Amino acid sequence: MSWNNSTDSSPLLEHNADLTARNTLALPGRAARYATITAVDQLAAAEFGATPRFILGGGSNLVLTGDFDGLVLHMAIPGRHLLKEDADAWYVEAGAGEDWPGFVQWTLARGWPGLENLSLIPGTVGAAPIQNIGAYGLEVAERLHSLTAYDFATGCLVAFGADDCRFGYRDSIFKQEGWHRSGRFAITAVCFRLPKAWVASCRYGDLAAELAARGKAAPDPRDIADAVIALRRRKLPDPAEIPNAGSFFHNPVVDAATAARLAAAHPGLPCYPQADGWVKLAAGWLIEQAGWKGRRLGPIGMYEKQALVLVNHGGGDGPAVKRAMAAVQADVAARFGIDLVPEPVFL
Ligand code: NAP
Repeated sequence: MSWNNSTDSSPLLEHNADLTARNTLALPGRAARYATITAVDQLAAAEFGATPRFILGGGSNLVLTGDFDGLVLHMAIPGRHLLKEDADAWYVEAGAGEDWPGFVQWTLARGWPGLENLSLIPGTVGAAPIQNIGAYGLEVAERLHSLTAYDFATGCLVAFGADDCRFGYRDSIFKQEGWHRSGRFAITAVCFRLPKAWVASCRYGDLAAELAARGKAAPDPRDIADAVIALRRRKLPDPAEIPNAGSFFHNPVVDAATAARLAAAHPGLPCYPQADGWVKLAAGWLIEQAGWKGRRLGPIGMYEKQALVLVNHGGGDGPAVKRAMAAVQADVAARFGIDLVPEPVFL
């Protein structure tokens, strides 16, 4: 596989690299040093052992707060293949640098369904497990079999099984232990287990309605992917046109008593009970009710069609994002007593 290929060429180290085009919010900032990693063995180069270090995927979950006086390693390791197949599942492996939406389409085209609900989420394969990306009732944790990561502390490749990743709601051990922020591990490849006993997952209202509108009473994986893609194109801004980092805040999860109290005070509050008895609220709804849907503070605003998405209307920088974020958080806290937590990583 290409990610295991040995190469004696060191990746070109760029100095004072402009990161503006390397984050989907298009925030300005420079990295003191920057290199693109296309093969695993490049990670062992002595110059990459230095800290501070930041591992960059597609830059789609990143708030650049200014210049970074350290090393940015852009993970661009390519490759995707069927690792093995048994009676129950296909095991498909991809290099960390593979584009996530392209990878999902590729699996579907080969007749290996299971990732269709995660269609069109911007980013890379290697970044997907870090925040356990999810959409329309499916999380990547449900399909991840294992991953391989380079540990800069030991200079070794480490295998993580799904349980080792300690997945949570938009969360994993890479965030919990601060490894992502410190750049300790670089995920190099991810293996997905796609069960042959495929079951459609269409319990989300928007998805069910879209499939019904398309006359798909018994949708196949392609139908679901097409519906998800259409929904996302309709509701979410394309970063190439309106810079953004997708969902900007976590959906808050509160205890049942708090949810009941809020629901009584705010009719229409969407509440999604969780298996553990806690209740998930929709951050986008809270933001909209607080008056922020389509509203701006300087160049930064909350998207007019989906209030959960923070957008850069042009010329915004890290401090402007922080100001807008704080204003939204303050208004939501004042109205609902809920503290919204941002989803992206701040560098
Ligand atoms: P939506 O349909 O407006 O719903 C708002 C929120 O309510 C969603 O965030 C979702 O939580 C929750 N929700 C809706 N129906 C639910 C159900 N049947 N059971 C449990 N929870 C439910 O959401 P949207 O903004 O258009 O997004 C649609 C999906 O795409 C969501 O799953 C969202 O998370 C996902 N998305 C993910 C990313 C990302 O991974 N960065 C970016 C953009 C959108 P959940 O978020 O927990 O699903």
